Amino acid sequence: MPILVYAESDQGIFKKSTQELISFARAIADQMNTEVIAAVTQDPSNANLGQYGAHKVLNLEQPSLGEFNAELVADALTQAARATGSSTVIVSSSANSRYMAPLLAVSLEAGYVPNVVALPQSYTPLTVAHNVFTNKATAFTSLQSSISILGLSKNAYGVHQYDTNAAITKQEVTLTSSSVEVTSLDKASNKVMIADAEVVVSAGRGLKGPENWGMIEELAEVMGAATACSKPVSDLGWRPHSEHVGQTGKPVASNLYIAIGISGAIQHLAGINSSKVKVVINTDPEAPFFKAADYGIVGDAFEVVPDLIQKLKEFKAQNA
Ligand SMILES: Cc1cc2nc3c(=O)[nH]c(=O)nc-3n(C[C@H](O)[C@H](O)[C@H](O)COP(=O)(O)OP(=O)(O)OC[C@H]3O[C@@H](n4cnc5c(N)ncnc54)[C@H](O)[C@@H]3O)c2cc1C
Repeated sequence: MPILVYAESDQGIFKKSTQELISFARAIADQMNTEVIAAVTQDPSNANLGQYGAHKVLNLEQPSLGEFNAELVADALTQAARATGSSTVIVSSSANSRYMAPLLAVSLEAGYVPNVVALPQSYTPLTVAHNVFTNKATAFTSLQSSISILGLSKNAYGVHQYDTNAAITKQEVTLTSSSVEVTSLDKASNKVMIADAEVVVSAGRGLKGPENWGMIEELAEVMGAATACSKPVSDLGWRPHSEHVGQTGKPVASNLYIAIGISGAIQHLAGINSSKVKVVINTDPEAPFFKAADYGIVGDAFEVVPDLIQKLKEFKAQNA
């Protein structure tokens, strides 16, 4: 029975997390001797999803799926899973998929495990490792249902390249009306979105005021990074709420997270501890963040950050 992947896209762009999802599904499909079907809700003709491991692309596109609506997407995927006879559905850990997956699980009477961090330990029954307690522990769960839904954590598996030619098939779905309607969508204007960023440059109250964010933005630009901040910083209105990361903000799972003038409170760490390498710049050697850091600089951000920018610029110029 095939594996269905919800291949999310934004205006026709299939992000790295979607590519990773398809590669993860392909590795499972190879073990289960089956195929990967990537279900899309936006025009897939400009994307070659076969190169990430999809065998087929199922185009569910229709006007009511233009803006993300969890109920309608769950309805469309339910129909796709039934039509294809899929026994496993794989979704990402994006905010949209986290919202949608439980609806899909109810509709398919499926078991759902979010925050999966590795390929299954076993396939009959499907047993997976997944992060729990804001990533402080790993649980191992066996799915006993006839249909399983896995939510893959970002950067848990990586993107793999395949030489597969995935044919696109259109599937008509009949969607019932939703109990909610997306009336407008204001997108954050960050140049690099936090959720997709390989590198995140984040700053806290140690920066003293919004007028000092120029150097943070410059560092982020030099590194091709997204900018983020601690909760008090967005509460004070120094930075937009879309940049707030942590337990009550956005989760970050970047390859590199640079925390500048952030103390490392437990609620902040809860949202960023999936990042692979953490670098901390703080004047206080006792700041709790140093305990969670891979690299630390005890120093004043107003001296360290400009130096870092200059060194990075020199390095880039020498290696251009
Ligand atoms: C229910 C709940 C949910 C919460 N959710 C979140 C959340 O999602 N995200 C979040 O971030 N917080 C959250 N918080 C708040 C959290 O507890 C901390 O208060 C907050 O993270 C502290 O922000 P900060 O580190 O920017 O500020 P501070 O705690 O004020 O720390 C500033 C740091 O900057 C350092 N510093 C000062 N000057 C400099 C300098 N010149 N150079 C370098 N370093 C300097 C200081 O040594 C200090 O470590 C939550 C709290 C609660 C109760």
